[in-house]
Amino acid sequence: MGWVALFPRNKLYGAIAGALLAGAPLIAFDVWIGGLLERQGSEESLLLAKRAVALAETRVSQTISMLDGLAAAGVNSCSPEHLAAMRRAVFLTAPVKGVAVIDADNQPMCTQVGPPNGISRILSAEPLENVPGYALEVIEAGGGQRMVRLRRKAGGGVADICAVIPVELFLPQISTNGGPLNVYASVTTGRGALIGTNGALPSDQADGSFSGGAQSSKYGFIATTTLARWRAIENHSDLSWLSHFAAIALGLLIVTLGIILPRRETGNPVAELQRALEAGEFVPYYQPLVDIRSGQLRGAEVLVRWKKPDGSLVLPGAFIPLAESSGMILALTRDLMKRVCAEAGPAIGKRPGLKISFNFAAQLFRSDSIVKDVRNIFVGSPIQMSQVVLELTERDPIENLTETRRVVAALQGLGVRIAIDDVGTGHSGLSYMLKLGVDIIKIDKMFVDAIGTDRNSTTIVETLVDLAHNMRMDVVAEGVENFEQVVHLRELGIRSAQGYVFAPPLPGSAFLQLVESLDPLPAAAVESKVAESARRYMDARTQFDAA
Ligand code: C2E
Ligand code: CA
Ligand code: CA
Repeated sequence: MGWVALFPRNKLYGAIAGALLAGAPLIAFDVWIGGLLERQGSEESLLLAKRAVALAETRVSQTISMLDGLAAAGVNSCSPEHLAAMRRAVFLTAPVKGVAVIDADNQPMCTQVGPPNGISRILSAEPLENVPGYALEVIEAGGGQRMVRLRRKAGGGVADICAVIPVELFLPQISTNGGPLNVYASVTTGRGALIGTNGALPSDQADGSFSGGAQSSKYGFIATTTLARWRAIENHSDLSWLSHFAAIALGLLIVTLGIILPRRETGNPVAELQRALEAGEFVPYYQPLVDIRSGQLRGAEVLVRWKKPDGSLVLPGAFIPLAESSGMILALTRDLMKRVCAEAGPAIGKRPGLKISFNFAAQLFRSDSIVKDVRNIFVGSPIQMSQVVLELTERDPIENLTETRRVVAALQGLGVRIAIDDVGTGHSGLSYMLKLGVDIIKIDKMFVDAIGTDRNSTTIVETLVDLAHNMRMDVVAEGVENFEQVVHLRELGIRSAQGYVFAPPLPGSAFLQLVESLDPLPAAAVESKVAESARRYMDARTQFDAA
């Protein structure tokens, strides 16, 4: 047995369809998330480049106004009041680490809070863009730190005054989400001289990276940033997890719907019956009817079974009531009769002594059209009308006894015989027996079980059998399960019986085999007699030859 057998097929299809459908949103989510991360990555690197430019502009602007202030105050020497002015200016201007007055030979005349070891190298020098009279230099201090130096003419025009700012103040130190810097950033002067860098350049470029760039419109600084793709994804791992979670949840939802929806479809039982009828899933089973005096086979009752595609058999009690209340019983009964004609018609037709009975819901006797149906079905079949028995099976009281009586008579006109099922129970009482003019009564299992043990039941059955015989009706006992019951039924003068003691309802092939073995056809009997005499003749010849 495979997995498929354990998992109902419609659910399996539902799950597969669900999985396929769920794949689409998963892919869509992935594409969407990919696009989102792409945008987020480029946006982040651009934002950090712009931030670097903004930092540089602010630092330089602050420094310019400080130096302009000192120049305007005429600071151009190392006099005590000039030094005091410089000290005050450094104190008030956050980014500036030191101020110096420089003579024509480029040597500091004096330094107010300058780099501790002085300046070792000038790395680049150029005019500051858009600000006449200012120069921008990148220098290396004695300790090795890079610094930006801004420089202008001092008051009186003899010397220069300059201020130094650490390059770190030109560069972003944190990422946009407030965490440690995740980009590599570099800032250059308008002419491209490097001011400084921060962060590590992504070494593994295999995964790709995002880059951003910005230029200062005020002073020409250029900032560029590089953000490794994996870092951008790591930054938004919460987002990506959320989207994966949503995609998985959506997928599961669709898979579940794929399983539930087919079940809901089968939740419409009438539609399911209709489908089963069209698919030919209602099949006849045959319960043998036996002559309890001679032991001969007298025929069979057709009992419907629903053979589902998975091989399971459903008993009529589970679907006949719905077939009746939905009106589908007519189509189902017609279909069953046709199937019996095709399957057992030849075997029954060749044995005129066999009867075949069908259960007919009482509602089928409400209209004349059933007479035409029965004629059309059996007229072209090997089964003779005289072999057909229709059992009037009723769950509710018959509404219109006169009409039913008329249809019963019309059917009898075709040559078929009518039985009342389950006599003695429910509504099937004496009145139906007396008023409907039927040919056979079937004594219910309930009475068969009570015969011999319950005096009253035995009396009722005795009365029913007497009455039936007086009215020239045949009597069939149902649900006979043991030989004691057979003996009692014989004593009561009953000839026909069916029940597990003889056979349960059998599938067509088994019933046909039983028919062949219990009731071999005369032609077959002749054939076997010929075969036997031929064998005897050959035996005799052999003995004769041997002698
Ligand atoms: P029913 O016509 O009274 O059929 C006899 C029921 O008793 C059958 O049940 C049969 O399998 C069961 N049976 C036979 N011998 C014995 C026995 O010795 N002991 C016990 N305990 N039971 C026995 P089944 O096949 O389940 O059918 C149930 C009912 O469904 C039938 O009762 C009949 O009323 C209805 N039915 C079956 N086929 C059709 C059909 O084609 N059309 C209609 N309208 N009703 C049907
Ligand atoms: Ca019956
Ligand atoms: Ca019955």
